[in-house]
Amino acid sequence: MPIWNPWHGCRKISPGCANCYVYRRDESIGKDASVVAKTKDFALPLAKTRNGGYKLTADRGVVYACMTSDFFLDIADEWRAECWDMIRLRSDLHFHIITKRIDRFGKCAPPDWGEGWDNVTVCSTCEDADRTNYRLPILLGLPIKHREVICEPMLGEIDMSEYLQTGLIEHVTCGGESGNNARPLDFAWVKELRRQCVRSAVPFTFKQTGAVFIKDGRTYHLERSLQMPQAKKSGYSYTPATGCADAIRYTLPRREELFSRLSRSDFRSRFHLSDKDRQYAAEKGIDTIRAHAADFVKTRLSPENPANDGRQTPMRGHPVFIAQHAAACCCRGCLEKWHNIPSGKILTPDEQAYIVDVLMSWIENEMKR
Ligand code: SF4
Ligand SMILES: [Zn+2]
Repeated sequence: MPIWNPWHGCRKISPGCANCYVYRRDESIGKDASVVAKTKDFALPLAKTRNGGYKLTADRGVVYACMTSDFFLDIADEWRAECWDMIRLRSDLHFHIITKRIDRFGKCAPPDWGEGWDNVTVCSTCEDADRTNYRLPILLGLPIKHREVICEPMLGEIDMSEYLQTGLIEHVTCGGESGNNARPLDFAWVKELRRQCVRSAVPFTFKQTGAVFIKDGRTYHLERSLQMPQAKKSGYSYTPATGCADAIRYTLPRREELFSRLSRSDFRSRFHLSDKDRQYAAEKGIDTIRAHAADFVKTRLSPENPANDGRQTPMRGHPVFIAQHAAACCCRGCLEKWHNIPSGKILTPDEQAYIVDVLMSWIENEMKR
């Protein structure tokens, strides 16, 4: 992947900048990264080979612009117009611009930007909930043809559901922080963000774990060389409609342990069958209720991206609905959090049968009360 750094050096503006790798790398060679200067590669998109052809060609892939600075940095205002000229001229290349300064885009866009250029993807970095809620409404409100989001280093739980639902975000990437002072990345945040992407069928990349990775409450310190492979190994990147989540390895909870955990949850243990539910179940017979459960699980939970996921199970109206809330089988988020079944995959017949079994165990137990 070609990188085009027209200038080098930057100024820190948000929490994600605290351990900026440009600063870290420059410090290690005694350089001051806050000094911003044009590089010798300023005109790289126009550079030619000895044969007279362009050095950067489309077959080498997307051109990542300004990876040791920020394209919309104010200090670079006087240099940017020339960069836009090169991007316009090289309409055969696709440029990827990653920024923490999407709020400067309006001031920095070229005069003929119009509804956006086909060969430019603008990617806003959102490291935490505050930056997400500030930057994404701006990104979505701008005339841009291709928008992406990067949560890296991800510093906390992020809810970008409402922004993903617009259908205007093409890709989300997340990852942890590297270096000696790295802040931790909790796998629970990664899974939650991934679930939001799955719900809106937006591709998601879990790029790397960072140096300090928390999984199921345990903290792991990972060398740099392991951070990307470990993320890849988890299988938690997601491309819609490819079956990629089928490869995620997981273990179903032991039944006893599950029911004991459910009984300790204030929310889950509040659910009980009403007299009406019991009467209904008694009248229909347990086999019919099981058939209903199988049908609800198949139609409302099993698709890769179930309709209305998170809200597909009513709070009343059928004993199986109550069982679904009580046993945390109400949506794909709960199935992942309580039963380890990854979201973003079509549930197999075995997985469906397991869920139906859990629901029926709960119902049969309630009928005995
Ligand atoms: S905007 Fe990016 S390059 Fe600039 S200081 Fe922050 S992290 Fe570093
Ligand atoms: Zn749920």
